[in-house]
Amino acid sequence: MLFPPASCARLIVKIGSALLVDPDGAVRRDWLAGIAADVAERTKAGQQVAIVSSGAIALGARRLGLPRGGRASLEDAQAAAATGQIALSQTWAEVLAAEGLTAAQMLVTLDDLEDRRRYLNAAATLGRLLQLGTVPIINENDSVATAEIRFGDNDRLAARVAQAAGAQGVVLLSDIDGLYDRNPAQPGAVHIPEVARIDARIAGMADDGSASGMGSGGMVSKLAAARIACGAGVALAIASGRIERPLSTPARHTIFLPEKRTGARKAWLAGRLTVRGTIHVDAGATRALAGGRSLLAAGAIQIAGRFVRGDVVAIEGPDGIIARGLAEYDAAEMLLLLGRRSEEQEALLGYAPRSALVHRNHMALL
Ligand code: GLU
Repeated sequence: MLFPPASCARLIVKIGSALLVDPDGAVRRDWLAGIAADVAERTKAGQQVAIVSSGAIALGARRLGLPRGGRASLEDAQAAAATGQIALSQTWAEVLAAEGLTAAQMLVTLDDLEDRRRYLNAAATLGRLLQLGTVPIINENDSVATAEIRFGDNDRLAARVAQAAGAQGVVLLSDIDGLYDRNPAQPGAVHIPEVARIDARIAGMADDGSASGMGSGGMVSKLAAARIACGAGVALAIASGRIERPLSTPARHTIFLPEKRTGARKAWLAGRLTVRGTIHVDAGATRALAGGRSLLAAGAIQIAGRFVRGDVVAIEGPDGIIARGLAEYDAAEMLLLLGRRSEEQEALLGYAPRSALVHRNHMALL
């Protein structure tokens, strides 16, 4: 069996557009039937599987005769997604039904997973669907998501869904069988079977853009997904779907090993894609944070962005972003406190200050 080990109770499988839709724009039904058979085998063995399915835009574009695969404008993409999604869901429902499985559809926007309350709500729905034995088919709600609030690629969406579902593994099936040390089109490119840590060297191997021109993925978004998944203690594999029954056929792939599981709240913070602002801090504060301390006003130099108490902010040291956390103050109040010691703060604020700008319990180091 390709991935993951049998111990993985919940698995998220992401399927890229190029695998779902052939170059003429028709659904690759036989291949999908193979995936449904794979999923049926896994569910019989006790594994719960959810599928993050792309392909709505590619499919809808073909049906509507839109240029550039439906990606010429946001309006086109939204119309294509609305048209393609219904056909896609129908196909999934049919191929899964043929295996005796029930499909359930969940369309989510970035905000559904970035807002803590909505995230918990979506997570509860997903958990219940899996408990009930359905196979959730998940996609971004592209017909309503605007450019600013989109995931834009289903790789990161799959990693976030894995986190929400409490899954132990994610498989990204696409037209590539893993990470190479350089663009695989270049001569001498070497396949990397396993990545224990996504450092600058690994990040440098990624090449942007999707090979098929159909999806929006590419290796950069796959690495971003691996970061989110591994940071949340979830293993992630990149494998090729250019074979029949890819979930039950051993084949070459790259596996990204999970980091130690952090608390769910911190993992959610670290995996967020959007922040409301940034707090710039000095080298002393950077060291204190790395040592597990809270961020005090004395070490803060500048802030950027408009945020209110409770919003997620990035914390940036002299060498780049080091953490993400929940702001204890609105931006305007925080501005008054920059560089100030605790004993000076009450006079500036007019009330007793909080213990930190960002408390260590509400902070995730990156
Ligand atoms: N959500 C998009 C779709 O269904 C695909 C995004 C991606 O290419 O990853 O067409």
